[in-house]
Amino acid sequence: MDFEICRRKRYWSKYAAWGGWKSGAPPPTRQAYLLNKLDSRHTLMGRATENGVRWALDEQQAGRAPTAEAAYEAAARPLLNRAWQDSKSGAWQQNPKNRIGLHEHYYPQLHPNLPGDWPAKLRAYVMRCVDNFIQTVLPRLRTVTPDQEVVLAAPESFSWEGLTIYAVPDYVYQQDGIWHIHDWKAGKPSAHHLKQLAVYALWAHTKHQVSPEAIRLYVEYLHEGRVAVETGSAALLDQARSFIQASAMDMADYLKEGDPQRNQPRPREEWDMTPERTVCRRCNFYELCAPEFTDSD
Ligand code: SF4
Repeated sequence: MDFEICRRKRYWSKYAAWGGWKSGAPPPTRQAYLLNKLDSRHTLMGRATENGVRWALDEQQAGRAPTAEAAYEAAARPLLNRAWQDSKSGAWQQNPKNRIGLHEHYYPQLHPNLPGDWPAKLRAYVMRCVDNFIQTVLPRLRTVTPDQEVVLAAPESFSWEGLTIYAVPDYVYQQDGIWHIHDWKAGKPSAHHLKQLAVYALWAHTKHQVSPEAIRLYVEYLHEGRVAVETGSAALLDQARSFIQASAMDMADYLKEGDPQRNQPRPREEWDMTPERTVCRRCNFYELCAPEFTDSD
Protein backbone atom coordinates (compact mmCIF):
# COMPACT_ATOMS: atom_id res chain seq x y z
CA MET A 1 0.00 0.00 0.00
CA ASP A 2 2.85 2.40 0.95
CA PHE A 3 4.47 1.62 -2.35
CA GLU A 4 1.34 2.52 -4.31
CA ILE A 5 1.10 5.86 -2.52
CA CYS A 6 4.76 6.82 -2.83
CA ARG A 7 7.81 4.82 -3.88
CA ARG A 8 10.09 6.78 -1.57
CA LYS A 9 7.90 5.97 1.40
CA ARG A 10 8.55 2.31 0.80
CA TYR A 11 12.29 2.98 0.70
CA TRP A 12 12.22 4.75 4.09
CA SER A 13 9.99 2.20 5.80
CA LYS A 14 11.48 -1.01 4.48
CA TYR A 15 15.13 -0.33 3.73
CA ALA A 16 16.31 2.87 5.45
CA ALA A 17 14.66 1.88 8.75
CA TRP A 18 16.02 -1.67 8.77
CA GLY A 19 18.12 -2.34 11.90
CA GLY A 20 17.08 0.96 13.52
CA TRP A 21 16.03 -0.91 16.67
CA LYS A 22 19.63 -1.94 17.44
CA SER A 23 21.42 0.05 20.12
CA GLY A 24 24.37 0.89 17.86
CA ALA A 25 22.27 1.82 14.80
CA PRO A 26 23.61 4.82 12.85
CA PRO A 27 21.54 8.01 13.45
CA PRO A 28 19.90 8.08 9.97
CA THR A 29 18.77 4.46 10.36
CA ARG A 30 17.50 5.12 13.87
CA GLN A 31 15.61 8.20 12.67
CA ALA A 32 13.91 6.32 9.83
CA TYR A 33 13.00 3.51 12.24
CA LEU A 34 11.58 5.98 14.76
CA LEU A 35 9.49 7.77 12.16
CA ASN A 36 8.27 4.47 10.76
CA LYS A 37 6.76 3.73 14.16
CA LEU A 38 4.76 6.97 14.37
CA ASP A 39 1.01 6.58 14.64
CA SER A 40 -1.62 9.17 13.81
CA ARG A 41 -4.96 9.92 15.40
CA HIS A 42 -6.54 7.81 12.66
CA THR A 43 -4.41 4.72 13.30
CA LEU A 44 -4.82 5.24 17.04
CA MET A 45 -8.61 5.22 16.57
CA GLY A 46 -8.25 1.90 14.78
CA ARG A 47 -6.09 0.42 17.55
CA ALA A 48 -8.40 1.62 20.33
CA THR A 49 -11.41 0.26 18.42
CA GLU A 50 -9.70 -3.12 18.00
CA ASN A 51 -9.07 -3.27 21.74
CA GLY A 52 -12.74 -2.52 22.45
CA VAL A 53 -13.87 -5.09 19.89
CA ARG A 54 -11.70 -7.84 21.35
CA TRP A 55 -12.89 -7.04 24.84
CA ALA A 56 -16.52 -7.20 23.74
CA LEU A 57 -15.93 -10.54 21.99
CA ASP A 58 -14.38 -12.01 25.13
CA GLU A 59 -17.29 -10.76 27.21
CA GLN A 60 -19.82 -12.36 24.90
CA GLN A 61 -17.91 -15.65 24.95
CA ALA A 62 -17.91 -15.50 28.76
CA GLY A 63 -21.72 -15.26 28.68
CA ARG A 64 -21.98 -11.56 29.52
CA ALA A 65 -23.62 -8.78 27.51
CA PRO A 66 -21.05 -6.04 26.82
CA THR A 67 -21.88 -2.35 26.37
CA ALA A 68 -19.91 0.21 24.38
CA GLU A 69 -19.28 2.27 27.52
CA ALA A 70 -17.85 -0.71 29.41
CA ALA A 71 -15.71 -1.76 26.42
CA TYR A 72 -14.39 1.76 26.07
CA GLU A 73 -13.53 2.08 29.76
CA ALA A 74 -11.91 -1.35 30.02
CA ALA A 75 -10.01 -1.61 26.77
CA ALA A 76 -9.94 1.57 24.68
CA ARG A 77 -9.53 4.35 27.21
CA PRO A 78 -6.36 2.94 28.86
CA LEU A 79 -4.68 2.77 25.45
CA LEU A 80 -5.76 6.30 24.50
CA ASN A 81 -4.58 7.75 27.82
CA ARG A 82 -1.23 6.01 27.64
CA ALA A 83 -0.77 7.05 24.00
CA TRP A 84 -1.53 10.66 24.83
CA GLN A 85 1.01 10.75 27.66
CA ASP A 86 3.75 8.93 25.76
CA SER A 87 3.24 11.02 22.66
CA LYS A 88 2.89 14.43 24.28
CA SER A 89 5.93 13.93 26.53
CA GLY A 90 8.04 12.42 23.75
CA ALA A 91 8.64 9.32 25.93
CA TRP A 92 7.70 7.10 22.97
CA GLN A 93 11.03 7.96 21.33
CA GLN A 94 12.88 5.95 23.99
CA ASN A 95 10.82 2.84 23.26
CA PRO A 96 9.02 3.25 19.92
CA LYS A 97 8.20 -0.45 19.64
CA ASN A 98 6.02 -0.50 22.73
CA ARG A 99 4.92 3.08 23.16
CA ILE A 100 2.90 5.36 20.93
CA GLY A 101 3.92 8.62 19.31
CA LEU A 102 1.45 10.64 17.25
CA HIS A 103 2.06 12.50 14.01
CA GLU A 104 -0.10 15.32 15.38
CA HIS A 105 2.36 15.91 18.25
CA TYR A 106 5.57 15.25 16.32
CA TYR A 107 4.64 17.51 13.39
CA PRO A 108 2.32 20.18 14.85
CA GLN A 109 3.18 22.50 11.94
CA LEU A 110 1.51 20.02 9.55
CA HIS A 111 -1.78 20.13 11.47
CA PRO A 112 -2.61 23.85 11.66
CA ASN A 113 -6.37 23.28 11.43
CA LEU A 114 -6.66 20.47 13.94
CA PRO A 115 -9.56 21.39 16.26
CA GLY A 116 -8.63 21.77 19.92
CA ASP A 117 -11.21 19.17 20.91
CA TRP A 118 -9.80 16.42 18.70
CA PRO A 119 -9.20 14.03 21.63
CA ALA A 120 -12.92 14.29 22.53
CA LYS A 121 -13.86 13.70 18.88
CA LEU A 122 -11.55 10.69 18.80
CA ARG A 123 -13.23 9.28 21.89
CA ALA A 124 -16.71 9.73 20.36
CA TYR A 125 -15.55 8.10 17.14
CA VAL A 126 -14.17 5.03 18.94
CA MET A 127 -17.35 4.76 21.03
CA ARG A 128 -19.49 4.77 17.90
CA CYS A 129 -17.34 2.08 16.23
CA VAL A 130 -17.45 -0.17 19.29
CA ASP A 131 -21.18 0.41 19.73
CA ASN A 132 -21.84 -0.48 16.08
CA PHE A 133 -19.72 -3.59 16.54
CA ILE A 134 -21.76 -4.65 19.55
CA GLN A 135 -25.08 -3.91 17.84
CA THR A 136 -24.43 -5.25 14.36
CA VAL A 137 -21.45 -7.64 14.34
CA LEU A 138 -21.47 -9.34 17.72
CA PRO A 139 -24.91 -10.94 17.19
CA ARG A 140 -23.52 -12.64 14.06
CA LEU A 141 -20.64 -14.05 16.13
CA ARG A 142 -22.69 -15.27 19.09
CA THR A 143 -22.15 -18.97 18.31
CA VAL A 144 -18.35 -18.70 17.93
CA THR A 145 -16.46 -20.46 20.70
CA PRO A 146 -12.80 -19.81 21.62
CA ASP A 147 -11.67 -23.18 20.21
CA GLN A 148 -13.10 -22.21 16.79
CA GLU A 149 -10.93 -19.10 16.61
CA VAL A 150 -7.80 -19.44 14.49
CA VAL A 151 -4.72 -18.41 16.45
CA LEU A 152 -2.83 -15.88 14.35
CA ALA A 153 0.90 -15.27 14.35
CA ALA A 154 2.05 -11.66 14.59
CA PRO A 155 2.45 -11.04 11.75
CA GLU A 156 0.96 -13.83 9.65
CA SER A 157 2.80 -14.56 6.43
CA PHE A 158 2.99 -17.14 3.70
CA SER A 159 5.37 -17.96 0.85
CA TRP A 160 4.36 -17.81 -2.76
CA GLU A 161 6.68 -18.05 -5.76
CA GLY A 162 9.71 -17.22 -3.60
CA LEU A 163 8.05 -14.16 -2.08
CA THR A 164 7.06 -13.71 1.55
CA ILE A 165 3.57 -12.24 1.67
CA TYR A 166 2.24 -10.70 4.87
CA ALA A 167 -1.43 -11.20 5.67
CA VAL A 168 -2.73 -9.75 8.93
CA PRO A 169 -6.46 -10.43 9.27
CA ASP A 170 -8.08 -9.14 12.45
CA TYR A 171 -10.26 -12.11 13.30
CA VAL A 172 -10.58 -15.60 11.87
CA TYR A 173 -12.66 -18.55 12.96
CA GLN A 174 -13.80 -21.80 11.44
CA GLN A 175 -17.21 -23.33 11.78
CA ASP A 176 -18.64 -26.33 9.95
CA GLY A 177 -15.68 -26.42 7.58
CA ILE A 178 -16.00 -22.75 6.59
CA TRP A 179 -13.26 -20.21 7.35
CA HIS A 180 -14.65 -16.79 8.23
CA ILE A 181 -12.09 -13.99 7.86
CA HIS A 182 -12.97 -10.57 9.27
CA ASP A 183 -11.23 -7.21 9.12
CA TRP A 184 -12.37 -4.39 11.38
CA LYS A 185 -12.21 -0.99 9.69
CA ALA A 186 -12.69 2.15 11.74
CA GLY A 187 -11.96 4.37 8.72
CA LYS A 188 -13.69 5.03 5.44
CA PRO A 189 -14.45 2.36 2.82
CA SER A 190 -11.82 1.91 0.12
CA ALA A 191 -11.53 -0.29 -2.96
CA HIS A 192 -8.17 -1.41 -1.59
CA HIS A 193 -9.87 -3.28 1.26
CA LEU A 194 -11.32 -5.98 -0.97
CA LYS A 195 -7.90 -6.52 -2.56
CA GLN A 196 -6.51 -6.93 0.94
CA LEU A 197 -9.20 -9.49 1.76
CA ALA A 198 -8.43 -11.40 -1.44
CA VAL A 199 -4.83 -11.71 -0.21
CA TYR A 200 -6.16 -13.07 3.09
CA ALA A 201 -8.13 -15.66 1.14
CA LEU A 202 -4.90 -16.65 -0.63
CA TRP A 203 -3.22 -16.92 2.79
CA ALA A 204 -5.92 -19.29 4.06
CA HIS A 205 -5.71 -21.38 0.91
CA THR A 206 -1.90 -21.48 0.60
CA LYS A 207 -0.93 -21.81 4.22
CA HIS A 208 -3.88 -23.76 5.62
CA GLN A 209 -5.10 -25.60 2.51
CA VAL A 210 -8.63 -24.19 2.80
CA SER A 211 -10.54 -24.63 -0.44
CA PRO A 212 -11.53 -21.29 -2.04
CA GLU A 213 -15.25 -22.05 -1.76
CA ALA A 214 -14.90 -22.61 2.00
CA ILE A 215 -13.73 -19.04 2.61
CA ARG A 216 -15.97 -16.11 3.63
CA LEU A 217 -14.54 -12.60 3.79
CA TYR A 218 -16.00 -9.68 5.72
CA VAL A 219 -14.86 -6.07 5.75
CA GLU A 220 -16.64 -4.63 8.77
CA TYR A 221 -17.02 -0.87 8.43
CA LEU A 222 -17.60 -0.12 12.07
CA HIS A 223 -18.16 3.60 11.85
CA GLU A 224 -20.86 3.15 9.21
CA GLY A 225 -22.20 -0.02 10.80
CA ARG A 226 -22.16 -1.97 7.57
CA VAL A 227 -20.32 -4.97 6.17
CA ALA A 228 -18.97 -5.91 2.74
CA VAL A 229 -19.07 -9.68 2.24
CA GLU A 230 -17.26 -11.76 -0.35
CA THR A 231 -17.20 -15.51 -0.92
CA GLY A 232 -13.92 -17.15 -1.83
CA SER A 233 -13.47 -18.55 -5.33
CA ALA A 234 -10.69 -19.66 -7.65
CA ALA A 235 -11.17 -16.40 -9.57
CA LEU A 236 -10.70 -14.34 -6.40
CA LEU A 237 -7.46 -16.16 -5.59
CA ASP A 238 -6.26 -15.52 -9.14
CA GLN A 239 -7.00 -11.82 -8.65
CA ALA A 240 -4.88 -11.86 -5.48
CA ARG A 241 -2.04 -13.63 -7.29
CA SER A 242 -2.16 -11.09 -10.15
CA PHE A 243 -2.18 -8.22 -7.69
CA ILE A 244 0.83 -9.62 -5.79
CA GLN A 245 2.69 -10.39 -9.00
CA ALA A 246 2.13 -6.88 -10.39
CA SER A 247 3.24 -5.29 -7.09
CA ALA A 248 6.34 -7.53 -6.94
CA MET A 249 7.28 -6.60 -10.52
CA ASP A 250 6.85 -2.89 -9.80
CA MET A 251 8.95 -3.18 -6.67
CA ALA A 252 11.65 -5.19 -8.42
CA ASP A 253 12.32 -2.13 -10.60
CA TYR A 254 13.62 -0.41 -7.48
CA LEU A 255 15.95 -3.23 -6.44
CA LYS A 256 19.52 -3.79 -7.58
CA GLU A 257 19.51 -5.99 -10.66
CA GLY A 258 15.73 -6.23 -10.24
CA ASP A 259 16.34 -9.19 -7.95
CA PRO A 260 13.77 -9.72 -5.15
CA GLN A 261 15.82 -12.64 -3.77
CA ARG A 262 18.83 -10.38 -3.06
CA ASN A 263 16.45 -7.60 -2.06
CA GLN A 264 19.06 -4.84 -2.17
CA PRO A 265 17.54 -1.37 -2.71
CA ARG A 266 18.70 0.94 -5.46
CA PRO A 267 20.03 4.29 -4.16
CA ARG A 268 17.51 6.46 -2.32
CA GLU A 269 17.36 9.11 -5.08
CA GLU A 270 15.98 6.50 -7.49
CA TRP A 271 12.88 5.85 -5.35
CA ASP A 272 10.39 8.34 -6.79
CA MET A 273 8.78 10.85 -4.48
CA THR A 274 5.09 11.50 -4.90
CA PRO A 275 4.40 14.96 -6.35
CA GLU A 276 1.31 15.22 -4.08
CA ARG A 277 2.41 17.39 -1.18
CA THR A 278 -0.95 16.87 0.55
CA VAL A 279 0.09 13.21 0.85
CA CYS A 280 3.48 14.29 2.22
CA ARG A 281 1.84 16.36 4.94
CA ARG A 282 0.31 13.18 6.35
CA CYS A 283 3.46 11.12 5.92
CA ASN A 284 5.69 9.98 8.78
CA PHE A 285 8.84 10.64 6.77
CA TYR A 286 8.13 14.30 6.01
CA GLU A 287 11.27 15.59 7.72
CA LEU A 288 13.48 13.15 5.80
CA CYS A 289 12.12 14.29 2.44
CA ALA A 290 11.75 18.00 3.25
CA PRO A 291 15.31 18.89 2.20
CA GLU A 292 14.43 17.69 -1.30
CA PHE A 293 11.21 19.69 -1.63
CA THR A 294 11.45 22.71 -3.88
CA ASP A 295 10.31 26.22 -2.90
CA SER A 296 7.06 25.77 -4.81
CA ASP A 297 6.22 22.81 -2.55
S1 SF4 B 1 7.16 12.86 2.56
FE1 SF4 B 1 6.12 12.65 0.60
S2 SF4 B 1 7.71 12.09 -0.86
FE2 SF4 B 1 8.51 11.72 1.20
S3 SF4 B 1 8.06 9.57 1.61
FE3 SF4 B 1 6.39 10.75 2.44
S4 SF4 B 1 4.86 10.82 0.83
FE4 SF4 B 1 6.78 10.21 -0.10
